[in-house]
Amino acid sequence: MDQLPIALKLQGRKVVVTGGGTVAARKTDLALRAGADVLVVAPELSSEFITLEKMPKFRHRAGTVQASDLQDAILAFGCTEDDDADTRLYELAHAAGAMVNVPDNSELCDFNMPAILDRSPLIVSISSGGASPLLARIIKERLESSIPARFGELASFLRHIRERIDGRFADLRARRHFLEKVIDGPAADLVLSGDIAGADARVDAELDAWFAPTSNKPVGEVFLVGGGPGDPDLLTFRALRLIQRADVIVYDRLIGSPILDLVRRDAERIYVGKRKNQHELPQEEISKLLVKLAREGRRVLRLKGGDPFIFGRGGEELETLAEAGIPFQVVPGVTAASGCASYAGIPLTHRDHAQVCIFVTGHAKGGRPDIDWEVLLRPNQTVAIYMGLAALPELTAEFLARGADPTLPVGIVENGTKLNQRVVTGTIASITGKAHDAGLKGPAIIIVGTVVGLHEKLAWFKPGEGAQDIGRRTPEPLAIAKA
Ligand code: SAH
Repeated sequence: MDQLPIALKLQGRKVVVTGGGTVAARKTDLALRAGADVLVVAPELSSEFITLEKMPKFRHRAGTVQASDLQDAILAFGCTEDDDADTRLYELAHAAGAMVNVPDNSELCDFNMPAILDRSPLIVSISSGGASPLLARIIKERLESSIPARFGELASFLRHIRERIDGRFADLRARRHFLEKVIDGPAADLVLSGDIAGADARVDAELDAWFAPTSNKPVGEVFLVGGGPGDPDLLTFRALRLIQRADVIVYDRLIGSPILDLVRRDAERIYVGKRKNQHELPQEEISKLLVKLAREGRRVLRLKGGDPFIFGRGGEELETLAEAGIPFQVVPGVTAASGCASYAGIPLTHRDHAQVCIFVTGHAKGGRPDIDWEVLLRPNQTVAIYMGLAALPELTAEFLARGADPTLPVGIVENGTKLNQRVVTGTIASITGKAHDAGLKGPAIIIVGTVVGLHEKLAWFKPGEGAQDIGRRTPEPLAIAKA
C-alpha cells in the first residue's frame, strides 16, 4: 500500500478549484457536498455551474489564480486543463500548505481522487492509486448494484441506536456480536424496507432477550474452514463470511497472506504451523487451544489449507470439540488435488484415461508411507499424492520396482493456484530428476496417470511472471531428498 485512504472532514474548511469547465464543476460539486467552503477561480464559469453557483458555500472570483486565493486553503483542485496554469496552482498551493489534485496529471497530485460510492453516511471509496481510474470505476459500478441504496439509512440507524447499545454492553466483544446480529437480522431488514420505527422496536426486543436471565448467553464456537489451495478467489462465500466474523484465527503454514488479508484487522492471529521436524504445536495442543479459546466465548476460526477433511486432521480437532461440548461448523474448501489439477489443466478423471481417482498421502505417521501399492498400480486411474515431494525418489522407485510402466506420465504442481505456481511433468522414471533440477520445494501435489499428458493442451493458468512469493508467508521447508 503506498497511499493512505482517509475520509476528510471539510466542514468549515476552504477548498480552491481553478477552472470553469466540466471537470472543475465536478470537483466543486464534490467539495460542496462534503461541506467545504469552495472558491472557484476562473475567468468564467460554464453552464454546469448553474446550480452550484446558488449554493451558500460557493464563491467565484473571475480571473486567474493568485497567492491570496489560497490563503487558509486545505485542498486545491487544478482543473484549468492548462499545464502551466495547473503547475502555478500547484506551486501556490504548496506555498500555502494545501494539498493539490490535478486530474489526469499524477505529477501534480498530492492525492488521488477515488471513485466514490455514496451511501452517506456510509462512503466507499475505491482508488487504484492513479494506476487505472477506469478499473476503480468499474469496481464502484459493481458495488453500486450489490450494496443496497438504503445502506446509508442502515448506517444512520446504527448511529441512532449506538448510545442505547453502548450503554448496555460493558463487554466490547459481546457488543460486537449483538451488533452483527442486528446488521444481519430482521432489524436491518426492517430498516432496508423503510420501517425505522419497527426496526427500533425490534432492537429493543432483542436487547431485552439478550440480557434476560433465562437466555443462553452465546458461548463461543469454532468454524473449521477450508481455505482452499491458495488463490483467495477459490474461497466459498460461507468461508469468506466466517473469516470476516471470527474474533481469533488459528492457522497454519498453508494459509497465505492473500487469504489472511481477508481476516478482520482486529482479530487475533495465532500461528500453529507445523514445520517438518519442528512440531511447533502438537496436534493435541491445537485441539486444546481451540477448546480454550471457544470457552472464553470467542468465535474461533480454525483456518486450514485446502479442505479440512482431506489430510487436514480436521476430524481429529472436531472430535475434541465434540467431547468438550463446543459448537462448531465445518466449511469445505477446494482440496489441493482438485485446485492444482484444474489450474494445471490436468483433468483428474477423463473417459479416455481414468475412471478412478485416488487421493493418497506420501507422508505417514512415523516413517514410510503405508500405501496399498496394488491399488495404486491399477490402470485407468489417476493417483494424486499429497505430501509426497520429500519422498519422491522412494515413491517413484517403489512404483518401478512393483512393475509400473516407466513411461507412465507424472506431473508435479507446486504452489498450485497461486501466482508462483509451477508445473513439472515427466514420467515415473524421469520425474525425480526433473523435480530436483527444478528445485521444487513445495507445497506440491504429485499427479500420476495418463491424464497428465493433457496438461500441455489444456493448461490455461498463467502464473505471474516473476511472481512474488505471495502465497507462502512461511515457506514449507520440504526439500527434495538427494536422489
Ligand atoms: N487439507 C489440504 C491438504 C493438507 S496436507 C487439502 O485439502 O488440500 C498438505 C499437502 O497438501 C502438501 O504437502 C501438498 O501436497 C498439498 N498442497 C496444499 N496446498 C497446495 C498447493 N497450493 N499446491 C500444491 N500442493 C498443495
